[in-house]
Amino acid sequence: MRIILLGPPGSGKGTQGSLIEQGYSFPKISTGDLLRQAVQNGTPLGIKAEASMKRGELASDEIVIQMVAERIAAEDCRKGYVLDGFPRNINQAQRLEELENQHPEVALDIRLSEDALVQRLSFRRICSQCGNIFNLSEKAPDRPNVCDTCQGGLVQRPDDQPDVIRERLRVYRKETEPLVDYYKRRDVYYRIDGEKTIDAVFQDMRLILDAEIVRNKQAEAVR
Ligand code: AMP
Repeated sequence: MRIILLGPPGSGKGTQGSLIEQGYSFPKISTGDLLRQAVQNGTPLGIKAEASMKRGELASDEIVIQMVAERIAAEDCRKGYVLDGFPRNINQAQRLEELENQHPEVALDIRLSEDALVQRLSFRRICSQCGNIFNLSEKAPDRPNVCDTCQGGLVQRPDDQPDVIRERLRVYRKETEPLVDYYKRRDVYYRIDGEKTIDAVFQDMRLILDAEIVRNKQAEAVR
């Protein structure tokens, strides 16, 4: 199954994507993580993408699609995968279908108010070593600024600053929100209430995913 996590920046796609990865053994593919890694490693793709990321704008479709194409071709994606932060616009969604059209698809759109998003993004801290996501108000680390899992140092993403957050939300509304209708038309769209706790959001997702898995198995058996 291909699970697409829609939803604005700060809605919890990364956190929920990791829970799905653990619970269902579908690898999580975060284009934001792949890009940040490329920037850190100073690869040609990273160098090209860095300036747009700093401004809160989208990196070029070609760069991101190339990264996704390489990643989903890997053996561990054969049974399915979770996409966090991709597609981000209609062109990316269409290109994804051209790349790979075998897996049944489900789009989970995590929604919450803009005030809650801004609050979450400014409280977010990321482990500089393992990428674990914390939130100083809702999911604080046991020791200040230290990752519970690997003891790495926690950092704030440069694009989690107030002016860049505003730009990212503007880009989301303009470029990414049209995907709601795109996936509604395909009849694979589910809206999730992201104001709930992390566990409660995951439970809501589980109900949908479990039902989809049963439905897909039944459809396969009929074929
Ligand atoms: P994220 O970690 O998903 O919030 O992404 C961080 C930044 O990486 C975004 O603000 C964009 O600059 C870039 N980015 C991530 N995914 C994509 C994508 N699918 N298309 C274009 N740019 C992306």
